Amino acid sequence: MKDIPEPVLVKPNDVKIRMSVLGICGSDIHYYTQGQIGSQRVVYPFTVGHEGAGVVVEVGPEVKRVKPGDKIAIEPAMPCWKCDQCLSGRHHTCRNLKFLGCPGQAEGCLMEYIVMPEDSCFLLEGKLTPDNGSISEPLAIGVYAVKKSGSVKNLKTGILGYGPIGMSVMLSAKAEGADSFFVTDKIDPRLSIADKEGAIYTGNPLREDVVASILRKEHLGLDVVFECCGQQEAFDQAIEILKPGGRLVVVGIPEFDRWSMNVETTRRREISLQFIRRQVDCVESALEMMKNGNINIGNMVTHRFPFSKTKEAFDLVAGYEDGVMKAMIDF
Ligand SMILES: [Zn+2]
Ligand SMILES: [Zn+2]
Repeated sequence: MKDIPEPVLVKPNDVKIRMSVLGICGSDIHYYTQGQIGSQRVVYPFTVGHEGAGVVVEVGPEVKRVKPGDKIAIEPAMPCWKCDQCLSGRHHTCRNLKFLGCPGQAEGCLMEYIVMPEDSCFLLEGKLTPDNGSISEPLAIGVYAVKKSGSVKNLKTGILGYGPIGMSVMLSAKAEGADSFFVTDKIDPRLSIADKEGAIYTGNPLREDVVASILRKEHLGLDVVFECCGQQEAFDQAIEILKPGGRLVVVGIPEFDRWSMNVETTRRREISLQFIRRQVDCVESALEMMKNGNINIGNMVTHRFPFSKTKEAFDLVAGYEDGVMKAMIDF
């Protein structure tokens, strides 16, 4: 940790924010322990962090949607709004995207003050807390994955990998009326959280044959499965537990370069495959669902650390210690 000058407003639509809280993401941990994710490599000094909420302290002359004193959630994506992707409504795959805490794109928000464009600021209204604001980032990925799955209403749903993203998928799918949840993870405390959230089956693949257990409970197989851990083993299990015509949604980020899949089962069962890249336009829905009580994140935040104890927080999350789901830094 080091002292740097406070950032200043540069563009007329800039907003200066005093950070209130930051959620630690798996990708922050990758940069911390590996120094890179795929080809994106950190060059020291670099600030990580992209799940933030704060208070507006200063705004540029053209800013309209927020004013000093407002509590806001920070959307970490800063698209160009000009390329083919942006113009077709896919600004999450913007050709010139700058994303907070991504090396070569933008410094992250693990600092006391940050300047962001107005478009990245979402007002925390009503009873929404800074935690809601910070969690709106991973939660929006769950909301988006469920949206891209088609529909989960009354469907039997599998979630393989129950970290904060798997949990975000479950909370979103529950809000959209999914019928029942089958959840697997290698960390037992995470399965306990899935139990609390109402999963009808939770299983640890280190101890049991989760495919056999799920098919014993649901002979015909599941309608939709979300792969949320980026593991080949989970991808294979997902295909085994899907019914013919089932849908596999891949949200997890693998550490390897290529997925492989069984030709026979994917073809004969006519499995649909959908990959997910972060999210687009789902922050507001995520905030709205927390505001109206359709989504409750009460079981997600398991640990809190003051800003000065950031290292301890990162080490805890990196080691999957103490049943951690989401750890927050308070500024
Ligand atoms: Zn994140
Ligand atoms: Zn663009």
